[in-house]
Amino acid sequence: MATKPSGVIIDLEAERKEILKRYRALLKASRRQLEKGDKQIIRKAFDVALEAHKDMRRKTGEPYIYHPIAVAQICAEEIGLGTTSIVCALLHDTVEDTDITLDDVRGMFGEKVAKIIDGLTKISGVFDQQTNSIQAENFRKMLLTLSDDIRVILIKLADRLHNMRTLESMKRDKQLKIASETMYLYAPLAHRLGLNAIKTELEDLGLKYTETEEYDDIALKLKETEPERKRFIQKFILPISEILKEQGFKARIFGRPKSIYSIYNKVRFKGVRFEEIYDIFAIRIIIDTPSEREKSDCWRVYSIVTDFYHPNPDRLRDWISTPRANGYESLHTTVMGPDGKWVEVQIRTERMDEVAEKGYAAHWKYKDAVTGVESKESQLEEWLRKIRDVLESTEENALDFIDDFKLNLFAEEIFVFTPKGEMRTLPIDSTALDFAFDIHTKVGESCIGAKVNHKLVPLSHSLKSGDQVEILTSKKQQPKEDWLNFVVTARAKSKIKAALKEEKRKVAEEGRELLERKFEHQKIEFTVQNINELQMYLRLPSAQELFYRVAKGAISVKHIKAWHKEKLKPTKTAKNEPSLEQVVKEIRGKKAGEDALVIGDNLTKIEYKLSPCCNPIPGDDVFGFITINEGIKIHRVTCPNALQMMSNYAYRIVKARWTQQEQISFLAGIHITGIDEVGLVNNVTKIISSELSVNMRSLSFDTKDGTFEGTIMLFVHDTMHLTELIKKLRKVNGVIAVTRINPN
Ligand code: MN
Repeated sequence: MATKPSGVIIDLEAERKEILKRYRALLKASRRQLEKGDKQIIRKAFDVALEAHKDMRRKTGEPYIYHPIAVAQICAEEIGLGTTSIVCALLHDTVEDTDITLDDVRGMFGEKVAKIIDGLTKISGVFDQQTNSIQAENFRKMLLTLSDDIRVILIKLADRLHNMRTLESMKRDKQLKIASETMYLYAPLAHRLGLNAIKTELEDLGLKYTETEEYDDIALKLKETEPERKRFIQKFILPISEILKEQGFKARIFGRPKSIYSIYNKVRFKGVRFEEIYDIFAIRIIIDTPSEREKSDCWRVYSIVTDFYHPNPDRLRDWISTPRANGYESLHTTVMGPDGKWVEVQIRTERMDEVAEKGYAAHWKYKDAVTGVESKESQLEEWLRKIRDVLESTEENALDFIDDFKLNLFAEEIFVFTPKGEMRTLPIDSTALDFAFDIHTKVGESCIGAKVNHKLVPLSHSLKSGDQVEILTSKKQQPKEDWLNFVVTARAKSKIKAALKEEKRKVAEEGRELLERKFEHQKIEFTVQNINELQMYLRLPSAQELFYRVAKGAISVKHIKAWHKEKLKPTKTAKNEPSLEQVVKEIRGKKAGEDALVIGDNLTKIEYKLSPCCNPIPGDDVFGFITINEGIKIHRVTCPNALQMMSNYAYRIVKARWTQQEQISFLAGIHITGIDEVGLVNNVTKIISSELSVNMRSLSFDTKDGTFEGTIMLFVHDTMHLTELIKKLRKVNGVIAVTRINPN
């Protein structure tokens, strides 16, 4: 297919040149992956995409084709994908947005490319839907495609990365939505696939658009402290790099600052100030060494480093002998550097470094070069198998499922062993019961306990790396509701829920028969209509729930009689619950004309509640979230649930702000750590109760080995009030850190 004949207008000509320039840059970036004949296929895909998108422009006004070229370049350069993926990336928006059909693609590029494009087209609308259940369902589909051909998800991640890089030109509400989604789903996915560089960039960009002020603040501080950091790194590196050279190592050695997002997390959730974060950068030593000497050479470098600087024995991490489940390999140690500062040092080979940055795709490239890679590859296979398993079997609410699943994406791993010495990888905090379900569903369902390192432990026992676990089963055992309170893996959760559901179904079946007899007794017809009405009357979510409760004795003849009496009254009809759509519409209608919900304003007609999950107090950045039964719930922007709400239910979010003059009190929590000194508790409480006349609700202190930790719940008027109090507490002798916490 020929490109469009050169334009008649002069700036179109310039654009054409720019397009070709970008295309050549793409070819250059992919040359490592190219084999004979590949260039022609890529050219063909480029020509097809160029023609198909020729009348389209991006929000920036640029020609649309810049986008697929950029996505293809990310695939080649930053993920290390090959020709098929480059072709698919170039074509990724054609079937959805242009006249080209999937059959066209199949005809021109074959079955493999068509399948991937189909996957990409199917998942592209995942978050555009209005209702959350469709979103969740689509996300599940997306993950299923992932287990078909992982390239679909890798290209999707490249697509998302380019959209995040060019988010500037979008409207504010779009920016927020895309950025929240990215942090909610795409960054965890990138992490799980070992795409470290992309994960980090997605998180930083996400933060830039969701918490702009904090992002700018940290970026500025990083910049300001750069010269000092550089001097320190130089001084640290110098003696090591000399010895490395002397001993014949080909090595790159440099300092690398942590991502803005990870610094932000430390500041926000650990309550440390920027200045106090000691591991704001890490030293990375990357050696070029043949595959058979990788491990021993890394340890030789470790030995050289620790000849100069004393290591902290608690902070040695050997991810070379046991790589993380996402493929990451490296040797980490923290040493005492010059000026008495702890410094993290990461030692790895060039190959390990590429895998660490680009993830599994880079891994595959080394398939033949490295011995023992088999086990790592099967780890990914193993992970995909688990996903497929969970996805296909699950009948639970898709949204719950995503939350469970997402937790597992980010979890750190532990390594445990079966009695025969086989190693299994589980998320951190996994229990003996998680392990049982990991072995087999039947083992999990009949698990009554376990022996960890030959000692008997309960099902809820948390496992640690290196534990050897033997599961004890009994035929009489059945899954219990309370198991859900302690298992952590998505697999165990979904299997337990499925079993409970099955059990419930059986009980409900009995309940149904029971109810039929009760109706008969009351001379009420046992019709679907009547069952429905009784269910509505009792405000139960389903008929099954009704039957279940009848079987369990929670619903008696008394209830049935009351409902029937009500039903016979001609004036009153059964009150139907309003639907979510109605509620949203009604609230939006009441709010019309105001830019935001004003909290504490007695004039507002809208019902609202402060959400207990993050306990907002005046001065906090807040937003409203529309609920069915409780009007609007007010959450802090930093609420742990905020990202999830904003990305999944954007249409239910309303702007909210505080009124000025309110003088009521709000519950807040403070966490204090320090050195256990005589009179410290007394001093702290004195400040709280007498100096600022704050009303304290509860107080708990814990002392251990000379340190103490305390939690105080108190009533304050606003954030200024709270900040002032925290400042005063920080000055108390012995206090090390004071942070605000959520009350529960
Ligand atoms: Mn796209």
